[in-house]
Amino acid sequence: MIDVLKIRKDFPILQREVNGKPLVYLDNAATSQTPQQVIDVIVDYYSRYNANIHRGVHTLSQEATDAYEQSRQKIQHHFNAGHPYEIIFTSGTTHAINLVANGFASILKKGDEIMVSALEHHSNIVPWQMLCERTGAILKVIPMDLNGELIMSEYHKLLSNKTKLVFCNHVSNALGTVNPIVEIINAAHEIGAAVLIDGAQAAPHIKADVQALDVDFYVVSGHKLCGPTGVGVLYGKEEWLRKLPPYQGGGEMIAEVSFEKTTYADLPHKFEAGTPNICGGIALGAALDYMNNIGLETIAAYEHELLEYATEQLLAIEDLKIYGQAKEKTAVISFNIEGIHPYDIGAILDKLGVAVRTGHHCAQPIMDFYKIPGTVRASFSFYNTKEEVDILVASVKRAKNMLQ
Ligand code: PMP
Repeated sequence: MIDVLKIRKDFPILQREVNGKPLVYLDNAATSQTPQQVIDVIVDYYSRYNANIHRGVHTLSQEATDAYEQSRQKIQHHFNAGHPYEIIFTSGTTHAINLVANGFASILKKGDEIMVSALEHHSNIVPWQMLCERTGAILKVIPMDLNGELIMSEYHKLLSNKTKLVFCNHVSNALGTVNPIVEIINAAHEIGAAVLIDGAQAAPHIKADVQALDVDFYVVSGHKLCGPTGVGVLYGKEEWLRKLPPYQGGGEMIAEVSFEKTTYADLPHKFEAGTPNICGGIALGAALDYMNNIGLETIAAYEHELLEYATEQLLAIEDLKIYGQAKEKTAVISFNIEGIHPYDIGAILDKLGVAVRTGHHCAQPIMDFYKIPGTVRASFSFYNTKEEVDILVASVKRAKNMLQ
């Protein structure tokens, strides 16, 4: 059971007001809020041991290096990766996907096929389109249905011995659909294709065990996990990380440099050029500790209660339509009210202190599928309450009365 009132005390931002009203923060799918425990780790880093890592003999540098590498191990254990060096720190999901896409430029050949799902965020579409332009590979799309679920029979038909790589999100940011990644991974492996799963939206609610999944790449962003922005993780299977060339060149990622020839550092440093987001990496470990102390299963069960409650209340509003009613979904509700632009609803909700996201949610193909310009998206976290759902519902009714 979650003691939500106790948990809320950990999040200083939840005490603030917006436009004279208590903040009701329902934009958790865009970014989650940061608990004091993580803020303290950030302050402690800059107050006590801010230094560059991996190079210094001095105490501060060693302390920072130890904290950074311990965080890598925490992340390894969280995702049950086989080795710490299979965890690459990135600036976020987008960076991680681009790193892998860049690597595949040296592997794919003209006519090879790579496959994306219809439910993707732009960051899991555009890097692959760029890869196709570079290599002559062909992009195939697993279609979706009106419930916001992937049509798996079509997926199986699209797979062939030409398919080299499949990438799909674990959870859709626009609709909250939880995708059948076990089936996706197993079927791709049967024909010898690699799989990248974008776990940006799943990681705050579902613990992915990368070894049990046997996934080739799994990527997440720290800022959706109660951590800071500017840090994320690429998990890659050792064999793939050894096969892929480095993404960026620079300091940290080399073994030896001369003007004739440069050799690269071993994993994970091969993919970590330049001074990384040291504080961010350390804080991400602290954020995972915070979430694991509550427990992801407990978090997901509570959020599901909020989802069911909010769905029922919102559907009772006349002319309100929810997009994406997948059998399995996280606590995301994407909706519109007939005849009203989502932006106008979002602007009124903001005046009432309610933070939601409006627009295409970086998933324009999904909006095109439903033939809409965008939606209002309320996304819930474990620190939200039923009272906040009531405020959302009352505010949406008020916006509707003002706008319709
Ligand atoms: N994929 C999904 C499913 C997302 O929700 C997001 C963030 N909205 C991203 C990728 C991109 O993450 P970031 O901006 O942190 O790189």
